[in-house]
Amino acid sequence: MRKYVIMGVQGSGKGTQSQLLREEFDLVHISVGDIFRWQVRNHTKIGAQVKRIMAAGELVGDDLVESVVRRRLDQHDWNYGFIIDGFPRNGRQAEFFMESYDIDAVIHLELPDDEVRRRVLSRRLCPNCGMDYNLIADRPEQEGRCDICGHELVTRADDTPEALEARLRDYHEKTRPVLELFRRKEVVHDVDGRPPLEEVQQAIRTTLGLPPYKG
Ligand code: AMP
Repeated sequence: MRKYVIMGVQGSGKGTQSQLLREEFDLVHISVGDIFRWQVRNHTKIGAQVKRIMAAGELVGDDLVESVVRRRLDQHDWNYGFIIDGFPRNGRQAEFFMESYDIDAVIHLELPDDEVRRRVLSRRLCPNCGMDYNLIADRPEQEGRCDICGHELVTRADDTPEALEARLRDYHEKTRPVLELFRRKEVVHDVDGRPPLEEVQQAIRTTLGLPPYKG
């Protein structure tokens, strides 16, 4: 059983790196942002509550986030473990998490703010199957269309310069202290998020003592 948290500023590759770990080690990938985006797309009650907050790049209230995380983990479909992405994002969420679940490692993807801006503003998403693209490093084969399902690609509602600045500010003010909390427990593994994604995946596996990435 492997229980990981992946942290890093938006655009640092958390989603991509989590997927690669999930596929090989049969982990359940829990992305709080993806859960909320699903709720918004499907016009649920939770979706209505979070839509505006997300579009502005602000953080959703802790009570709601915690109940979503608890409900997801209570499904207990993670026989081989989980990798949780986008949570915890502040001190209170970290306390809640550490009280309920013990974790093996926190993977911290490091990326300078300028690189974050460059990556995030060129990010595109398939609203149908959830596949992520990047117009710099990971272009779709046909412009504006998903390689997997052919759906038209969109820009995430919160990938605007204003929302990005709000998220960067929150990250530095609220999420960085969470890392310090985890550091005291000696579970943090810092990984440089700048190299190509295969190299980053390999670095994660090396530091966690996992079998190598074969691509
Ligand atoms: P992400 O895909 O992780 O960038 O999350 C997208 C948005 O979902 C964030 O900008 C927040 O509005 C909301 N969100 C995701 N995770 C959390 C969290 N742990 N706490 C509060 N809000 C969150």
